[in-house]
Amino acid sequence: IYTVEIEADEKKYPLLLSNGDCLEKKSLGNGRHYAKWNDPHKKPSYLFALVAGDMGVVTDSYKTTSGREVKLEVFAPHGKQERCLHAMKSLKQSMKWDEETYGLEYDLNQYMVVSIDDFNMGAMENKGLNVFNSKLVLADVKTATDDDFHQIQSVIGHEYFHNWSGNRVTCRNWFELSLKEGLTVFRDQEFSGDMTSRSVQRIHDVDSLRSRQFSEDSGPNAHAVRPESCLAVDNFYTATIYEKGAEVIRMMQTIVGLKGFKKGMALYFKRHDGQAVTIENFATAISDANQIDFTQFKLWYSQAGTPVVHVEENYDAVKKQFKIKLTQSCDLTLTEKLDPTFVKEPFYIPLRFGLVLPTGKAIKIPFDLLALKEVSQEWTFADVPEKPILSINREFSAPIKLVQNMSGQNILLLIKFDSDAFNRREASMKMLLQEVRRLIACAKNKTALITNPDVIEALGYILNDSKIDPQMKALMLSLPSNMVIAQEEETLVPEAFMQAKKKIIIDFVNQFQNDLVKLYKQHHPLDTIGDRTLKNKILDFITV
Ligand SMILES: [Zn+2]
Repeated sequence: IYTVEIEADEKKYPLLLSNGDCLEKKSLGNGRHYAKWNDPHKKPSYLFALVAGDMGVVTDSYKTTSGREVKLEVFAPHGKQERCLHAMKSLKQSMKWDEETYGLEYDLNQYMVVSIDDFNMGAMENKGLNVFNSKLVLADVKTATDDDFHQIQSVIGHEYFHNWSGNRVTCRNWFELSLKEGLTVFRDQEFSGDMTSRSVQRIHDVDSLRSRQFSEDSGPNAHAVRPESCLAVDNFYTATIYEKGAEVIRMMQTIVGLKGFKKGMALYFKRHDGQAVTIENFATAISDANQIDFTQFKLWYSQAGTPVVHVEENYDAVKKQFKIKLTQSCDLTLTEKLDPTFVKEPFYIPLRFGLVLPTGKAIKIPFDLLALKEVSQEWTFADVPEKPILSINREFSAPIKLVQNMSGQNILLLIKFDSDAFNRREASMKMLLQEVRRLIACAKNKTALITNPDVIEALGYILNDSKIDPQMKALMLSLPSNMVIAQEEETLVPEAFMQAKKKIIIDFVNQFQNDLVKLYKQHHPLDTIGDRTLKNKILDFITV
């Protein structure tokens, strides 16, 4: 328990802040003043903070469900206060969301966010006194973009959610960093999804995971979510510990279900409030609350690398049976290879799926989650009237690489009909990635680049489907990023990447120019994030 007394020059440092609640503030005469703070909650030293300075402030208040009146303050350099209003709004949304989702309330009488222009990190969750890099707090309505606003909302949420996942229950040591970071990233992703669009949020999170974490996993820095050793603790602030850590938590939620997961979270906070615990303790709380064995599942914490799942499908038209065979593998990482005794065990991989008929109708199935626990497993479905298209790893239920042979025609059917928004976009991405790679090969071989007319037709279909919401449409029309292409290519020829992408865009624009311009004009006067995103995507295309 910390009690902090601060004394300083009254003119130079009118603000004297620390963690917890302010008990006393007085002038000492002689140009100096004094403040006393007390934080009634136990905390590790990394959550301590002290701020002395001269700043402007925006003030508001929030009443918790149980009736506590909390004073909210966002501090910023003088003159920049009005740029804090979005951060303040986001803070109130976060407080409400955590109460409604997990029943977690704020536990002090004041909550302060301090925006600093030269802060060497993004933001820090010091108890009751968050310290932020200005770029994650300040937003000028005249110049800030939708992405800026979204990022502020997400990081304000992240640091606020740490008050429980990180501060009230903290990590026993830094090897357990993902206990607080994986869980809190998961919580801020869910929060952002609820504040905006869940499917768009999921797609952005997975895009980021694939470009940052998958490349980490396949390189010399590959490490487990709970590493065994390190050279310096700052090496731990990685995409694996943060983003893959969040994916592991998400898989737990998928396995035990939303209700079961909330039960597990409640047990975790009840059991460990005020303690410094381990990832093991978290997994035990979720499994105890649901009476489920997580022994194998916990390999996600100790084994590094991205598993690959191969899909084989077989349809028996006479018996009306459809079979799915899944086989998993995961290459040893550099560090795992160095240990001759290391044996990589199969992961517990939860895969959400659905069967879609060529007419677009979904086939009724007895369950929608395949639990792949062995190297290879098979499932048989009866009464399947005709050969279905398998839409698997829906919502990206597991952080794996999927190898599934699919004809161009079936990809197109999923683009049109998949009821899972994530996989619908996945199908368009798959189609575009295949086409880009085919054209890259042509560019490398110095042969003519001729686009597949079916691909251009499919893009036209997406463009003109009025049922797809504009933000999703912009995502489905987006070509794969260079990072994503680079992960697939043996040799990297950047000029070939550019040529291939440009060729697709030019052919698409030539064929659908009128539709593109019409859609642009239709969304131009409208003023939502989706309208702006789609408009900018169209501008991107027609100005190439
Ligand atoms: Zn964090």
